[in-house]
Amino acid sequence: NWNQIPTAPPDKILGISEAYVKDSNSQKINLGVGAYRDNNGKPIIFPSVKKAEGILLEKESEKEYTGIIGNKNYQSIVRDFIFNNSNKDANGAKLIKEDRIVTAQTISGTGSLRVIAEFLNRFYDSKTIKVPKPTWANHVAVFTDAGLQPEFYNYYDVENNSLDYENLKKSIESTPNGSIVLLHACCHNPTGMDLSNEEWDEVLQIITKKNLFPLVDMAYQGFALGNPYKDIELIRKLNQLVVNDELKSYALCQSFAKNMGLYGERIGSISIVTESSEQSVAIESQLKKLIRPIYSNPPIHGSKIVETIFSNENLYNSWLNDLDQVVGRLNKVRDQLYQKLDKSNYNWDHLTKQRGMFIYTGLSKDQVIKLRNDYSIYATEDGRFSISGVNENNVDYLANAINEVIKS
Ligand code: PMP
Repeated sequence: NWNQIPTAPPDKILGISEAYVKDSNSQKINLGVGAYRDNNGKPIIFPSVKKAEGILLEKESEKEYTGIIGNKNYQSIVRDFIFNNSNKDANGAKLIKEDRIVTAQTISGTGSLRVIAEFLNRFYDSKTIKVPKPTWANHVAVFTDAGLQPEFYNYYDVENNSLDYENLKKSIESTPNGSIVLLHACCHNPTGMDLSNEEWDEVLQIITKKNLFPLVDMAYQGFALGNPYKDIELIRKLNQLVVNDELKSYALCQSFAKNMGLYGERIGSISIVTESSEQSVAIESQLKKLIRPIYSNPPIHGSKIVETIFSNENLYNSWLNDLDQVVGRLNKVRDQLYQKLDKSNYNWDHLTKQRGMFIYTGLSKDQVIKLRNDYSIYATEDGRFSISGVNENNVDYLANAINEVIKS
């Protein structure tokens, strides 16, 4: 009886955009959703993507289905991009050469997380997946719906607005052997606070000692240091551990939503690093068997854009440049906001350590609600602000509102 169906609460992040749209205040600011806006507050299409689409418009001659896990060209482009890094990662290159990386095109990052979660539920012994506290809210929903059991590991010290590193290590240490552990590759969402290289080394030691299965989510490759090749230290370290036989396998979910601005095209991938080429054959076949009854095969426009950009050196370089500009603007406006914030009542130093699309302000739920009610500034109640909603035209208004709310 459908009269019994309870109304579900609105999505925490997308619900904010809905409330923002209804607000008639001309100074309103949307800091909810993590999608890029330019200095005029408008969404953009990367110029390199526009060019690729122009080429496609002329050359495309069919709209056939791609394969269940995408086509071989897309898979190998992604594999080379992430694991070989323009020949900078010898370990990743070795794994590719030995056919030990299975790559599938997926429906952006969320789709890849869902597919790997379903796969692990089917073929991995432990159903426990440790996720950082806090993490992107959808992680918990995706893993739970796929039959896994998410539990939190310590990550962030709310009191001090910093990484809770000692407790992070302790909670990974106390995780049951063989569990799955979710790692954010860079630009941790929502805190923007990443581990240093040395910290990763220590944590990976615990992970290998406890035989945990690393599941890496890389939604913001390029947003930490402005260059996708500099943001994958964690992947390189994992590849090295696999080649050294200290780690058997791991999986990586990746998306071009942010770093090519292809949000709505839903283009991403999953890669599973296996123990042997024989294992790869079996795992690939099972991925196909799993995906076929869900959505049959992924959409083609996004993958063709990615393939076009990677197949043309000029376009490829202009993409790197577009990405650099996007990240450059975010860093600039983050710095401007930091400069304008009143440090006499509140320590804002954490802002200078955070990276990516968000700042994790540490403001309380009440303060966030006050910003919304009194200033039409919309953000999630955990105090995460999407920095892409900030620009030179509204940074003064925002800084002033925050300063007032903290004083009161
Ligand atoms: N992981 C994280 C941490 C994210 O922040 C996001 C996007 N907000 C995703 C995955 C997935 O994004 P998409 O499905 O749009 O690629």
